[in-house]
Amino acid sequence: MAIRLTKIVATLGPASGNKASIKSLVAKGVNIFRLNLSHGTHETVRKWIQWIREVEEENHSYVGILLDLQGPKIRVGKFKEGSIHLKRGQRLTFTTEKKIGDENLVPVQYPRFHQEVTKGERIFLDDGNLSGVVKQVSGQRVDVEIQTGGILSDHKGINLPDAKLTADPITAKDKADLKFGIQEGVDLVALSFTGCAKDVKRLKSLIQKQGGQGIEVIAKIERKQAVENLEEIVKEADGVMVARGDLGVEIPFTEVPVVQQRILREGAKHCKPVIVATQMLESMIENPRPTRAEVSDVANAVMDCADAIMLSGETAVGKHAVAAVGVMVETALKSEAYLAETRSIDSWSRFFEGEPTINAGITYSANRMVELLNAKAMVVFTISGGTAKMVASPKPMVPVFVFTPSLHRARLLNLVRGTVPFVVEEDKHLLLHMEQLIIMLKKRRLLKKGDRVVITTGIPVGIPNRTNIIRVEEVP
Ligand code: PEP
Repeated sequence: MAIRLTKIVATLGPASGNKASIKSLVAKGVNIFRLNLSHGTHETVRKWIQWIREVEEENHSYVGILLDLQGPKIRVGKFKEGSIHLKRGQRLTFTTEKKIGDENLVPVQYPRFHQEVTKGERIFLDDGNLSGVVKQVSGQRVDVEIQTGGILSDHKGINLPDAKLTADPITAKDKADLKFGIQEGVDLVALSFTGCAKDVKRLKSLIQKQGGQGIEVIAKIERKQAVENLEEIVKEADGVMVARGDLGVEIPFTEVPVVQQRILREGAKHCKPVIVATQMLESMIENPRPTRAEVSDVANAVMDCADAIMLSGETAVGKHAVAAVGVMVETALKSEAYLAETRSIDSWSRFFEGEPTINAGITYSANRMVELLNAKAMVVFTISGGTAKMVASPKPMVPVFVFTPSLHRARLLNLVRGTVPFVVEEDKHLLLHMEQLIIMLKKRRLLKKGDRVVITTGIPVGIPNRTNIIRVEEVP
């Protein structure tokens, strides 16, 4: 049976936040669960984490947990009737005063809103479904003319793509959520509304200070500023997410596909995993079958060698959560089979930009060797995870079996395309015992007799990011 190379991230929410659903989602193919605290309190999310760990143990598999910090999402407040109807051409007042809204008044929950918008700037509501233009600012009141009307209900999001916002991307709520996540042992944290590398650095230092060593940071690319600062963010973060929901409001949505390509390229260049997210199978929130365009979106992300594809509402609140994962699994396998016929690994040049390192030479050559010898897999031994990420970054069309002494690393590698992690004891005599590990892979039917395997590791064992050996074995 073919091993799927592309990883699947699923968001937990009211529709899937129970042990039976978590079990079914893992059995279907989820590699990482994304926990979004807008879907649950610390109490509920703590339960979810406990169930994920239980399922992981019962299934003898590794499942990563990604805590998505909400960041400074600007929202409207509450309305007397729960919602209002906005009409095209209508003028109404947005205010930062603490008031309940009505047909003429929209309360805004960001206290600096009136100071940071100016006349002529655009304002988008409800993920861009509604829009308007700022006509006048006076005191705490902002006069807006509606351009695209519709229903605006309580707590819907606001996007201000033209404004220079000063909101800190790490809010007080994020700090409390981070503390909770560290206590509960999450593997990754996603930073919403990342603007520049400094934001990522700050989150990393907060994680360190709170004792969350080893937790990796995923920067969500969803603001124009982040697109402008893409390279420095990719270099600083441990991975990035193409957060197409907000991104498609902050920049013209017709530019999102091109930005997605740029992010994928930048991630591969710096050996950082990229998650393609949002609306991949959106219609499956309601319907048992996706649209053909949605399936193509999934297939194209796979054929562009995204590390992971993500489900949001489809698994958090959708009626067909497990089926949506099934669609992703099937589509990924079929697209990867096609890709295997045509794809050659990424070109040599990017590995040797700047100083050519031994690591880069070994990992690139190991990938070339897989193609030359028609090898069926790669095998990597890693402590920090760095070697595995590097070996996987030319996007080989064979699985990379990764042996690591760290359970946390194994869970993290679930985000890296092509890797299949195993936790083993640290072994100073690795080269002697390699054959036993290959036989174990054969017993698990992951390899068969005669298959060639390209192995890379660092000798002496135990020094992170020192890959200096390539060896080729045939499965006995
Ligand atoms: C997005 O905006 O696409 C996204 C993934 O973030 P969130 O779901 O937190 O809005």
